Amino acid sequence: MVLVSSCLMGFPCRYNGVIKNHPELADALGRVAVPVCPEVLGGLGIPRPPSEILGGTGAQVRVGPARVVNILGEDVTRAYLSGAQIALSIGMQAGCRVAVLKARSPACGIGAIYDGSFTGTLRTGDGVFAALLRAHGFKVYTEDELEEALLSLDCQVTGAV
Ligand code: SF4
Repeated sequence: MVLVSSCLMGFPCRYNGVIKNHPELADALGRVAVPVCPEVLGGLGIPRPPSEILGGTGAQVRVGPARVVNILGEDVTRAYLSGAQIALSIGMQAGCRVAVLKARSPACGIGAIYDGSFTGTLRTGDGVFAALLRAHGFKVYTEDELEEALLSLDCQVTGAV
């Protein structure tokens, strides 16, 4: 089983409620996917103001002093931390050790996230949920690394990726 960002599986959970279809992902992972949206599991609604990590990365949100703030300046750190913990628990109960997550999200981003300025500027680092998964030994991949994720699951790549 593999943890997957719900929005990659076609759930309308993005901050703006808009569905983005990734049919290749649904085809490749449909039978083994455990979809989770840590932002919604943390109690944030749909739609919701977009958020970014201020003052660091997802790992630094977990230990401080970085915070997650939305574009209105509201601190939503607690929601991100609790949602990540719930999503981790779901994944562990399902036996997942691999995750395929949405790139650049303040929760799910891997290796690159927006820098807190809401200007579209990226910085190096993971989102809050991705950092928590790494700390628990998960292998984490973005949707752009689907082939590597499937190889790590010993699955055959089927269809275009
Ligand atoms: S990127 Fe992660 S937190 Fe954001 S909508 Fe998708 S699943 Fe939810």
